[in-house]
Amino acid sequence: MKKISLIVPCYNEEECLALYDAEMSKVIEQMKDYIFEIIYIDDGSEDKTLEIVRSLAEKRAYVRYISFSRNFGKEAAMYAGFCNVTGDYIAIMDADLQDPPELLKNMVKILETGEYDSVATRRVNREGEPRIRSFFAKMFYKIINKISDADIIDGARDYRLMKREMVDVIVAMCERNRFSKGIFGWIGFRTYWYPYENIERAAGRTKWNFGKLFKYSLEGIINFSHTPLHIASYLGVGCTGISLIAILFIIIRKLLFGDPVQGWASNTCVILFLGGIQLFCIGITSEYIAKMYTEIKERPHYIVRECSDDTIKKLG
Ligand code: UDP
Ligand code: MG
Repeated sequence: MKKISLIVPCYNEEECLALYDAEMSKVIEQMKDYIFEIIYIDDGSEDKTLEIVRSLAEKRAYVRYISFSRNFGKEAAMYAGFCNVTGDYIAIMDADLQDPPELLKNMVKILETGEYDSVATRRVNREGEPRIRSFFAKMFYKIINKISDADIIDGARDYRLMKREMVDVIVAMCERNRFSKGIFGWIGFRTYWYPYENIERAAGRTKWNFGKLFKYSLEGIINFSHTPLHIASYLGVGCTGISLIAILFIIIRKLLFGDPVQGWASNTCVILFLGGIQLFCIGITSEYIAKMYTEIKERPHYIVRECSDDTIKKLG
């Protein structure tokens, strides 16, 4: 019998967990040909999430849990899940029921055909999301697909079912600056994209605001593309070219017309413009250096404070 592992990152999900458990247990009940394991990752929640998860582990034999020493973010929670699951098929699922447990049945069927290594979900609409957020999300997908090797489909969710082989590769990619959507695309394998209508959160509130999403998208671009560095180089080459032409122009004008004192305003503009470009380029380079600094320190992705069993890695 094949085993399916579900990784459920939870940060302040006290309102959703009972609903999730009820929905998921119904689906598990219907999939009798498989053994299940659910690993809840309590990502340093400040509410009653840990207590609820503990009681779920007591109530259901297939539930395991990991509780972090603080909030490490969803990426770290997913990584902790990947490092500790034991199933043949592994799925990532949000606790807020935005990733419908119902879909799992069809996703497993598709994986069983043997044609694919993973089944990933894709929202076909963004109903319920602020327009401005959808606009920037669309722009982000367009840009990142143009300038990087990470093949990310617009509307792609983290909700996906993968074969063990794929998860082993993801665990081996132990980079600290994690952008899983990019990693899933970058490692390749054959993926089936499963479309579904967007669903709003069952309860509670999203943990993402515009600022956090903006930072996350920059993370994606910097992690999977060198194009910003190339832009800095091209700007440097462009400015040097323009200044050479300007120098030639000034020399010729001096030879032809003498050197009348003028152009203070244009001089100042040029200095400010070049200063701006230089700072911009240093800024881009610094972003990459900062990422390298984080990688070099090799700090753990997550620290476990409490967990359901001894097989769980306390640091990872
Ligand atoms: N999450 C997490 N750590 C965080 C933020 C979120 O584990 O720091 C979890 C959260 O509990 C949920 C999932 O990640 O299960 C997705 O979060 P959310 O629903 O807030 O994101 P959205 O669906 O709005 O993109
Ligand atoms: Mg959500």
